[in-house]
Amino acid sequence: MRVYDIILKKRNGLKLSAEEIVFLVHGYTQGLIPDYQLSALLMAIYFNGMDAEETSNLTSTMMKSGKVLDLKGVPGPKVDKHSTGGVGDKVSIILAPLAAAAGLVVPMMSGRGLGFSGGTLDKLESIPGFRTNLKEDEFISILKKIGLSMIGQTEEIAPADRKLYALRDATATVESIPLIASSIMSKKLSEGARSLVLDVKTGSGAFMKTYEKSVALAQTLVDIGDKMGVRTVAFITDMDQPLGYEIGNALEVKECVEIMKGESDERSSDLVEITLTLGSAMLLLGGVVTSGGKARRSLEKVLSDGRCLDKFRQMVDVQGGDARVADDPSVLPRSKNIIDVPSTRSGYIQRINAEAVGFCTLYLGAGRSRSDDRIDPSVGVTLKAKVGCRVEKGEPLASIHANDSSDADRAIEVLSKGYTIGDEKPKPVPLVKSLVTKNGVRAVDGGFWEKGVEVGV
Ligand code: URA
Repeated sequence: MRVYDIILKKRNGLKLSAEEIVFLVHGYTQGLIPDYQLSALLMAIYFNGMDAEETSNLTSTMMKSGKVLDLKGVPGPKVDKHSTGGVGDKVSIILAPLAAAAGLVVPMMSGRGLGFSGGTLDKLESIPGFRTNLKEDEFISILKKIGLSMIGQTEEIAPADRKLYALRDATATVESIPLIASSIMSKKLSEGARSLVLDVKTGSGAFMKTYEKSVALAQTLVDIGDKMGVRTVAFITDMDQPLGYEIGNALEVKECVEIMKGESDERSSDLVEITLTLGSAMLLLGGVVTSGGKARRSLEKVLSDGRCLDKFRQMVDVQGGDARVADDPSVLPRSKNIIDVPSTRSGYIQRINAEAVGFCTLYLGAGRSRSDDRIDPSVGVTLKAKVGCRVEKGEPLASIHANDSSDADRAIEVLSKGYTIGDEKPKPVPLVKSLVTKNGVRAVDGGFWEKGVEVGV
């Protein structure tokens, strides 16, 4: 086999065989194929795509480039969740302890933030002492003990993806559905869960800006999971405005604790709704309930009676973090300055551009422009009001948490431009737009869970 012939084949729009994919992925991971040839191939894939069989072959080859965890020794239904990421997306920090407290085992490996979008690992690491770099045996022993562990991907998980993702990042070939789907699923399928619930975000603060592209990515992800024997469903959810009201690492942990303590307000209602929806699907896939309605009621109870918070506290403690955070979020790092951003007119908030808020937090130091940038856990943005709220001229729209005044000036400018304020109260947009299963896409309306619609598996 010659790399040149495989590049030519894909450049001409033809299908790659399983053997060719194995040859490429192994050759590249072992350093036998140079970056310039793989770059050309990635660009050919970017323009000509891959069909379902090629995408699933690429996924399984990348998965097998590393270790696939065996969680058979951990009793209980193992269900994981993954989000394609967004601004203020802190769902996992509540959802993982919630699902574990409701009877599932949640083996969650998460990523770091890049660009305008945050990462669960960075948020968790804002808790003093919290360790996310656990070895496999410690991860498994924590799962056995408390049914939950949240860590970063170990070095052994899908090493081929790590190398390929870095090359895609440098060659403008990230935004390709088969490449994104195989990258995400090669890692998720290595983690040992038997079922997977995906949150595919759509809107300005999402990787996929349009509904159609989000559905296409979701269907590709679900089909890969199904082909590889992991029951997978995906929800398409709104990411046009940030989720909840805090954006920035420690601030987001604080909001999650407030929700788990029952002390949050209306500004967190979108975050709670998405958490309960994804959690209900997790309980259904894990087989611990028989209908969506029962799942939702069980989760509401676990969230309101303190069991979710207890599970979170246990996890923080066992992973070396300061467990006082569960009772008193003031143990989290805080910025030196908090500056209000006033509204320049009276009216209704019609739009808060999630991407603009994401860039604002990036400029404050909460995120990374490059994968090796250091982040500041204390900085970020607090939204004082969300879309649909009325504000008067001069009232604060948001506050900026900053440590450096020049960062703050730039962030205030970007944030202000992200708001649209008008005379009309905007119509609410559906938060959970649709459900994607191996059987296709279906709308998710208000009666979805009460009717007990199964998740289609
Ligand atoms: N996240 C991943 O893990 N891989 C991609 O390609 C894109 C987002």
